[in-house]
Amino acid sequence: MFDPKPFIRTVPDWPKAGVQFRDITTLLSDPKVFRQLIDAFVHQYFDVEFDAVVGIDARGFILGAPIAYELNKAFIPVRKKGKLPFDTYEESYELEYGSAEVQIHADALAPGQKVLVIDDLIATGGTLEAACKLVTRSGAQIVDCAAIIDLPDLGGSRRMRELGHSVFALCEYE
Ligand code: 5GP
Repeated sequence: MFDPKPFIRTVPDWPKAGVQFRDITTLLSDPKVFRQLIDAFVHQYFDVEFDAVVGIDARGFILGAPIAYELNKAFIPVRKKGKLPFDTYEESYELEYGSAEVQIHADALAPGQKVLVIDDLIATGGTLEAACKLVTRSGAQIVDCAAIIDLPDLGGSRRMRELGHSVFALCEYE
């Protein structure tokens, strides 16, 4: 299994003091590593039956689109509020200070469709949980949630599993 850790850049004290930001742009800027990254997900889901990849704004788009293309699936964006032009479903979730909203086009998924939800990183899981609620409200089923990085100490992946979702990540940081 491809280990992305050697290629992830950790930026201390960004966007604020005390945060160790895991920068994935260094995984994308090397063409060979970018291919290995996408291929790791493609191999993981090659034999799984599903219809669409749901990518979360914005780094989930960078991963989700090539994975969907390679596996012959649809790509559906979950976007931050105010970006999608047609009828939407909306979910809000808590941030450290305040809240945020994500949206999906109401007709993007058909009831009964099976989807893979992908983002770059799972921390508290708030973003991923909101995206999964949008999928469920669309009547679709989640086959798996995927990310490059899980931060298990922040409890997001545990919470998602408690909610009945399976979670796959290529690596973890304490
Ligand atoms: P959560 O909602 O799980 O607390 O936070 C995850 C979301 O915040 C993801 O959409 C992810 O892109 C972003 N995020 C939070 N911390 C980091 C980080 O250290 N590195 C990256 N690349 N994204 C982060």
